[in-house]
Amino acid sequence: IQWFPGHMNKAKKQIADTMAKVDMVIEVLDARLPQITTNPLIHELRVHRQRPSLKVLNKADLADPKVTAAWVQFFKQEANTAVITLEEATKARDMGKLLKLCRELVPHRTGGEKPVRAMILGVPNVGKSTLINHLAKRKLAKVADTPGVTQSQQRIELPDSTILVDTPGMMWPKIASNNHGYKLALSGTIGRNAFDAVDVAWYAMGWLALHAPSTIATRYKLKDLSQPGDVLFEQAGRAMGYILPGNRLDEQKTAERILTDFRAATLGRISLERPNDPLDMDLGEEEDA
Ligand code: GDP
Repeated sequence: IQWFPGHMNKAKKQIADTMAKVDMVIEVLDARLPQITTNPLIHELRVHRQRPSLKVLNKADLADPKVTAAWVQFFKQEANTAVITLEEATKARDMGKLLKLCRELVPHRTGGEKPVRAMILGVPNVGKSTLINHLAKRKLAKVADTPGVTQSQQRIELPDSTILVDTPGMMWPKIASNNHGYKLALSGTIGRNAFDAVDVAWYAMGWLALHAPSTIATRYKLKDLSQPGDVLFEQAGRAMGYILPGNRLDEQKTAERILTDFRAATLGRISLERPNDPLDMDLGEEEDA
């Protein structure tokens, strides 16, 4: 598996510069793996600059609701932090609840004419644009490019004078272990070109055999879930008839099917991470001080 290391320093500087100019951050996280999609660098910069954070848990509709509720409780314990799921935020069409949380995080900016300036951060594909679109759909909201900033930055002015500065796709996940990498790939949070689908699907089958055995037994007609991931993968592909000439398994097609099933929640609403999980470190991964 090949993860992206590129552009890290540039992105870090850009994030730090923007953070200096805003009052708070909106961290978009994937509800199925919110800690793994959290970038520790953001926390570091926030503490340094004393910027509060609203954590928005996207894709809660794909996650196990009980686990998501536990994450909400977990993040509520953090200082200077508020948390809401996108699901919850979009129940009100005016996004009023989310904006209220923003204003509460920066009381010194509220009540006056001063706008709340926020930056939206999150790993690629986590749903930043989706959130921005929900905010921009509010009547009177203006979405405009801001002169003088990078092309990728956008400014949204909302009627209650909240201003959002978007920095799309700039925050790469910090991948602390191979397992984290696999989970990011499985969730679709990192791009297709960054990993080998077959490798990720092998991992997925092994993980699902432990965490959602009955679902995959039914879906892929598997009998013995004590087998390793690659064996389950092969059986699943054959059960689905993904066979090439010479009775070879069509690995690519099998992998795509499994990844799509997971991402579309065809296998049910599954969270890949729980609060206070034991550190999900595989042995022998590269060291990250
Ligand atoms: P960005 O790269 O962070 O801006 O991510 P996007 O907003 O483009 O979203 C990436 C993909 O995830 C899109 O296909 C969205 O429709 C989908 N997505 C975003 N948020 C949610 C969510 O809360 N639930 C579901 N099911 N899909 C979402």
